[in-house]
Amino acid sequence: MSDSDDDIFKKKKPSKKKIEQQQKQQQQQQLQQQQKQLKQELNQPDLQQNNPKHPKLVIYCVICTLPVEFCTYSKAPQECKEWLKTTFKDLYALLYPEDLKLEQEKQAALLLQQQQIAQQQILLQPPEKKKKKKVKVTESDMVYIKVKERNRNKFITTLSGLEKHGLDIKETQKKISKKFGCGSSINEKGAIELQGDLSAELEEWLPKEYPSIKEDMIAIQEK
Ligand SMILES: [Zn+2]
Repeated sequence: MSDSDDDIFKKKKPSKKKIEQQQKQQQQQQLQQQQKQLKQELNQPDLQQNNPKHPKLVIYCVICTLPVEFCTYSKAPQECKEWLKTTFKDLYALLYPEDLKLEQEKQAALLLQQQQIAQQQILLQPPEKKKKKKVKVTESDMVYIKVKERNRNKFITTLSGLEKHGLDIKETQKKISKKFGCGSSINEKGAIELQGDLSAELEEWLPKEYPSIKEDMIAIQEK
């Protein structure tokens, strides 16, 4: 051991942690420098024309320690590629154009798939119910459907209030009777009585047949 070596050891040794930190910092700086330099080189048009795959700057792979051009000889070429991709993206694009293209195609396919799924979901969603124009309903508009059980399993549906919409009761009675194939009559109060429970049918049919009768104007009283 020479004197000078001794001197070094006498000096206060920086802590291991500090050394590691400094090394890390240096590596980081070096990396940034290389990235910058590489970018400049790659942007030179003459270089691109002459030999685009080999910028003058030699970058050594941290995975296999070879210059990145020789990573194909690495024991873990895939790891090398991954490192290069995240560290020197442009160089990666130069060295592995097929891989990049493949990745881009994959990504595009994925995106398309996602878009298609999104579109399907939109189609699957029930259409938003059209907001009905609010009609102010008053008692003078109301049509009543009343269902009563007369005998066992025999129902009578009473329909009243149609005259408020200017309907001729006798004519309407005949129309309904024919439409739903049921017996009918007009009671002493002037309401139409129909044999069977026709509440659901009438609720649907009335507003279609007589536009002045809005859905909101139909009240159903079961039994
Ligand atoms: Zn490598």
